[in-house]
Amino acid sequence: MRMMKNASNTPHLAEDSGSESEDVENSESEEDEEEDDVVDVEDVGKAMSKYPLHRTSNNVNGVMVKRKSTKAKREMITPELRKSLTKQGYRLVGSHSGVKLCRWTKSMLRGRGGCYKHTFYGIESHRCMETTPSLACANKCVFCWRHHSNPVGTEWKWKMDSPDIVVKGAVNNHYDMIKQFKGVPGVKPERFAEGFSIKHCALSLVGEPIMYPEINTFVQLLHEKGISSFLVTNAQFPEAITNLIPVTQLYVSVDAATQDSLKKIDRPLFKDFWPRFIKSLKALSAKGQRTVYRLTIVKAWNSDEVEAYANLVSLGKPDFIEVKGVTFCGDSKSSDGLTLKNVPWHEEVVYFVDQLAQMLDGYEIASEHEHSNCVLLAQTKFKTSDGGWNTWIDYSRFHELFQRYQATGECFTALDYMEKTPPWAVFGAKERGFDPVETRWRRKEKVTQGC
Ligand code: SF4
Repeated sequence: MRMMKNASNTPHLAEDSGSESEDVENSESEEDEEEDDVVDVEDVGKAMSKYPLHRTSNNVNGVMVKRKSTKAKREMITPELRKSLTKQGYRLVGSHSGVKLCRWTKSMLRGRGGCYKHTFYGIESHRCMETTPSLACANKCVFCWRHHSNPVGTEWKWKMDSPDIVVKGAVNNHYDMIKQFKGVPGVKPERFAEGFSIKHCALSLVGEPIMYPEINTFVQLLHEKGISSFLVTNAQFPEAITNLIPVTQLYVSVDAATQDSLKKIDRPLFKDFWPRFIKSLKALSAKGQRTVYRLTIVKAWNSDEVEAYANLVSLGKPDFIEVKGVTFCGDSKSSDGLTLKNVPWHEEVVYFVDQLAQMLDGYEIASEHEHSNCVLLAQTKFKTSDGGWNTWIDYSRFHELFQRYQATGECFTALDYMEKTPPWAVFGAKERGFDPVETRWRRKEKVTQGC
């Protein structure tokens, strides 16, 4: 197995949370600050570690793990938080993980269309599980649709559940939620049956999955079940990105292009959030498998930073750039003045992407999902000789390559598991990214949340 080195890191506690005070349940008490000299690795050691943890001092896999306290570690999910998240439709797993049924999963069960990842990469939305092994995050983004009820922190300071427990709990809860669609009008029987065989996992529900010290074993367990992994990180843990084993597609959220706007939009807890962000982008460029920048355009906030975005692309050299108009999640005091006026029209997103493409070498618009206001730029190495694209993924091939990597350490690249994009999904097609085998269903309100 190929091992990667882990450099040492310096802890940065959240002294400045970017204008916000931390949630009460997550603020550090003085007692918690009392530490002895022993790194609290018991939790980590008990977990089913298939991948050795890269550890220097109390840095585990690039995330600081809080030292052992004389008191037992607390659980990330407090009873109040449990109540609040359950009310929002989350199924909580163990003490720090969650799973929720995505609206696109429900939509595709009914044959009403999949999410943009169906269009861009061929995922089957009705067989997709949206989950996270860490509900905690190091940011408090203004457009977070969880209305900031999730815990925050800059280090792992909670009790830890083993990855097999988390995977099993997430899968069982997901199937339990699918079961509730039995006999629901409109649900297609064959899609319902397929729903009990998960093919994809979107690690982007809420929180920062890469903070979970056992993320490598977690991902491996998914792959062993034939489940692909789409992991999204907020670019605050660069070493954790370096230490991550191959995932099917690795995302970095690039919510703004300058230090000032990133602070305003992501409201990071880390004081050194900008160097962390830049280091994370550079770490992405060293990964061999498929990488993606996800840009969320907030009109009048970051929509005129095209040139600065182009500079960031040169750091991470992602295979793909997804550009999405921000989704308005309703009025929320914590949204810092974000209103419907900040939501761009799809044509405005296309215009932004077109400008960006002109500033970049080797990228072109490959696909769009008009339905969710999202456009895909891809490196031209994914272009076919007949003018089409290979943005889709050969999932079986990915799993073969991953198994080989595990057995021999042999690396593989994004080009080894690409697949042809169907004509309806290519930019410029009359379907505008809507799969013609599906039936368009117009919702009364235009809410297109998804991961
Ligand atoms: S939006 Fe995300 S969670 Fe929902 S089906 Fe698509 S990939 Fe899965």
